[in-house]
Amino acid sequence: MRVASKQGEGLCPSTPLGTVVPRPHLLKTWFNSAFDLLLPPNCLSCDTLVAAPGLLCAECFRKTAFITDPFCLRCATPFTHASQGGPDRLCPDCRQAPPRFDRARAALRYDGHTARIVLALKYADRTETAAALARHMARAGSVLLREADVLIPVPLHRRRLLSRRYNQAALLAYALRRLAQLPVVPDALQRVRSTPSLGDKSGPERALIMEDAIAVRRGRGARIAGRRVLLIDDVLTSGATANACAEALKRSGARAVDVLVAARVPDPGLG
Ligand SMILES: [Zn+2]
Ligand SMILES: [Zn+2]
Repeated sequence: MRVASKQGEGLCPSTPLGTVVPRPHLLKTWFNSAFDLLLPPNCLSCDTLVAAPGLLCAECFRKTAFITDPFCLRCATPFTHASQGGPDRLCPDCRQAPPRFDRARAALRYDGHTARIVLALKYADRTETAAALARHMARAGSVLLREADVLIPVPLHRRRLLSRRYNQAALLAYALRRLAQLPVVPDALQRVRSTPSLGDKSGPERALIMEDAIAVRRGRGARIAGRRVLLIDDVLTSGATANACAEALKRSGARAVDVLVAARVPDPGLG
């Protein structure tokens, strides 16, 4: 079992991630990490051996649904054909009720296969996944990254951070920082109240739950005012969390808020 990864190992509150709690078994982790270096790495999604950490095997790469044109220019939901978006290339939801963020881009279509990769990032110690996903995010969000002033990860509530030990959105933001040479402000946003899992909730329910659940942390306004913010997260579903973040950032004077995620849940109404 691979229980350690270079990026997740030994992170503590003094690291630049700033959102990670100490790990109790550093020696064990170091041992496992050193042991991993002696073994050929596994594919990000299955047990097939691959040439380097963070790669998909040929079969899993073939199964991976990358989001390419056509998609909604506002929320990145994939279209099955270009005419679905109409002349403005927007999905019906964005035309009726535009989100609070300006533009979203996503690397992968969220399905059973990509869920395995993204969930590994969230719940297992496979944080090398962050570097691999960031490379695909950089491709999908190249324009957004070029125009952004600062990267800000979607925050976890403190209780969830304690159980998971790291914020997967912050890991993605730091992996993107290396690729795009942009500053990261990992603690710009905070969850001001705990929210239930949004997994089984409808879009309107999610929006209600997330309303005012996120705020800009005291003292971070100066890093946001007048800037083009690129919000980073692992999965974009209804957009309720991204909207809550964008609302808070714009209230603090952000000039624009774009969103870049690893995977986008497709709109079932759009096939
Ligand atoms: Zn594989
Ligand atoms: Zn849309």
